[in-house]
Amino acid sequence: MAANTSDKLQQLKELLAEVTDLSRAAALLEWDQETYMPPGGVQSRAEQLSTLLRLSHVRFTSDEVGRLIGELEDELGGRPFDSDEASLVRVTRRDYDQARKLPPDLVAEVARAGSVARPVWEKARHDENFGLFAPYMEKNVELNRRIADAIGYEDRPYDALLDRSEPGMTTAQLEAIFAELKKAIVPLIADIARHADAIDDRVLYRGFDPDLQVSYALGVVKRLGYDLERGRQDKSTHPFSTAFGPGDVRITTRVSRDFFNECLFGSIHESGHAMYNQGMGHDIDRTPLWGGASPGVHESQSRLWENLVGRSQPFWRHFYPSLRSVFPEPLQGVDEEGFYRAVNRAYPSLIRVEADEVTYNMHVLLRFELENQLLEGTLKVKDLPEAWNALFKSYLGLNVPNDREGALQDIHWSYVSFGIFPGYTIGNLIGAQLMEKIHTDMPDLDAQIETGQFASLLGWLRKNVHRHGRKFTPNELMERATGQPLTAAPWIAYVQRKFGALYALHAGRY
Ligand code: ZN
Repeated sequence: MAANTSDKLQQLKELLAEVTDLSRAAALLEWDQETYMPPGGVQSRAEQLSTLLRLSHVRFTSDEVGRLIGELEDELGGRPFDSDEASLVRVTRRDYDQARKLPPDLVAEVARAGSVARPVWEKARHDENFGLFAPYMEKNVELNRRIADAIGYEDRPYDALLDRSEPGMTTAQLEAIFAELKKAIVPLIADIARHADAIDDRVLYRGFDPDLQVSYALGVVKRLGYDLERGRQDKSTHPFSTAFGPGDVRITTRVSRDFFNECLFGSIHESGHAMYNQGMGHDIDRTPLWGGASPGVHESQSRLWENLVGRSQPFWRHFYPSLRSVFPEPLQGVDEEGFYRAVNRAYPSLIRVEADEVTYNMHVLLRFELENQLLEGTLKVKDLPEAWNALFKSYLGLNVPNDREGALQDIHWSYVSFGIFPGYTIGNLIGAQLMEKIHTDMPDLDAQIETGQFASLLGWLRKNVHRHGRKFTPNELMERATGQPLTAAPWIAYVQRKFGALYALHAGRY
């Protein structure tokens, strides 16, 4: 007797639950590697991770999963688009096809190329010598092209790579958005540079006790809504957030005595990621629907809390008195307004990960343009540093002194990974687009933040973003939450308003 629909759905869910468990176990091993594992554990850990990830991949790409998806697609055709069942089958189909399209030989070659190129990239970066790395970069460009060909695309090869990380986004959509950003932000950056002395941020470097910083930051993220019954905070060299299920979503942080921003804003950022995971529906747990809609949407949640909340005036009206009582000495003689201004200082800088809110997207735009040119063959790898430096000058007004602070700065190009960078800008834009809608829905939001109340804000995000997990593509999610697909206008209006005021730029122009 043939199995009925609900039996098949049950079978598919059981298989997918095993796949999820295997990849979550791998994620826990990775968390341990970054936090507590002794240096001697590297070799065994690499083997354990590779075994778990291979098992999870084999199980997921099995013919049985493919057969069940195919049959369920026919049988569930009438269910509503946003129902758990229809969404499960739709999203699993997308993941399954992508995983099956890449031939195992290509996957192995990509992994090998990455591990061979990484140490060469480190040496080239250290020696400030792009030429050393160029042959490996050539190989990576070629492999990115082969991945794009294997996945397939209609218009631009970048579309195939982008669709893997930001489903439904196209190169053309991003080009239009980036053109809008460039037009508005390049002149704003130049204007801010002319008024650079309007903000003095020396207070941030006065020396803050590291242990007190960590405990203060933890207190803040608890207040925002990060649930420590289902989470914890540890230290690591590179801060991150990771989730092993709805009941265990962790963050890490790092702390510097000499630079205040790192620990507090890093912790708020990671807790933004973590609150997203903590808010995902239990009913979609252990399925491909449980997770971030895309890296860009995930980043929107961290940036929203870090920048639109954590770097806002109402936030500091609430928190500055307590910060001052914890750090009376370094904060001596600095009032709440002065501190708010200090944490918002904007200035063109060479390194993406250190960039402020205004200049950050220009770092991303430049990489997006260069990746496209490399992929389409209009830029040769040997000419990359020169092209980098020219774009840098025109977007940020700075001369790049060497390749270490130029084309060799990011780890991303040391492995095969084109199509990742746009997610950072998509995150900034989504954060602002959501916030604009939130302000309309909750006109007293600033007053709530000023009195330290964040529950309604978190509730809005849970209802409109978090609980859906991966059910919708980024554009679908934004349509549902704000009434339109991804757009740059709210972010542009936000930075023009905020930084126009901070830097006293010509009234009316912004
Ligand atoms: Zn992040």
